[in-house]
Amino acid sequence: MKMCKVCRKKPRLGRRVNNEGILFCSDDCYEAFEDSPNDMDHPYIDDYDAVRFEYMEWTGRYEQKLMSAAGRNLQAVKEELVEGIESVIEEFRDYVSLEGTDGVFSAEIYEYLQELENLTVVIERWTPGKRSKKATS
Ligand SMILES: [Zn+2]
Repeated sequence: MKMCKVCRKKPRLGRRVNNEGILFCSDDCYEAFEDSPNDMDHPYIDDYDAVRFEYMEWTGRYEQKLMSAAGRNLQAVKEELVEGIESVIEEFRDYVSLEGTDGVFSAEIYEYLQELENLTVVIERWTPGKRSKKATS
């Protein structure tokens, strides 16, 4: 896996790229790198920022929501999460049809949308694991 251009860490959830496809682990490292071209003029930058934010939100929070629902109405919580994610994917459907073929940001957006799609499957299959067993038994 590629490393962050600035700190050499392995990028995870907060990863971002600039419009040349250079990879950073976080907004901080992205901003610390001075040789980037100006991304703010790019036509896809707002959508890229938006979908990246949504991805981090959903990925960072779904498990906690499922955990706190376990034992009560888990299915309803699952449906709520999946519907929320699907509405995000729907909002960016233009990029689904582009399939990432229009430059670095369209490729990133497409990848996030596929990850979100995968996340709906993960949520649907989710069952309370070790951590929540204690609370439900
Ligand atoms: Zn970094």
